[in-house]
Amino acid sequence: MSERTILPNVDDRETGPFFAAAAEGRLVYRGCLDCGRGLQPPTAHCPHCGGWNTDWKTASGAGWLFSWTTVVRQIHPDFPAPYTLVVVELDEQPDVRLLGRLDGEPELALGMAMEVWFERLGPDGPTLPQWKPAIEIPEGTR
Ligand SMILES: [Zn+2]
Repeated sequence: MSERTILPNVDDRETGPFFAAAAEGRLVYRGCLDCGRGLQPPTAHCPHCGGWNTDWKTASGAGWLFSWTTVVRQIHPDFPAPYTLVVVELDEQPDVRLLGRLDGEPELALGMAMEVWFERLGPDGPTLPQWKPAIEIPEGTR
């Protein structure tokens, strides 16, 4: 369990359902029901086709590592360095990429399978979807 001072706004009209689903252990994303594109950040309006026919969809929680960077200098007390920020593209919706944070400098490889997990931010805090490698890479094989 993390003790953080910086928390997401879970009451936002556009992003609230993302955090509500996470609190239930589900990963969701917003998609356009007309053109099929994913909407990240989630919005009620589709910037691709101009439509308003959008809704939340449940994701499997599987994705692949699109990119990552390791932060080696601490910027905020909530996030002791080093830590690694990952960008994960969802398996079922390639245009939705979500961020996650891993402690330290884990062995990662571009395109590796990632899986979601849910981090509770404090005893009464919101829940944040996070990502971890689906299979650990043996050391020295990156
Ligand atoms: Zn659309």
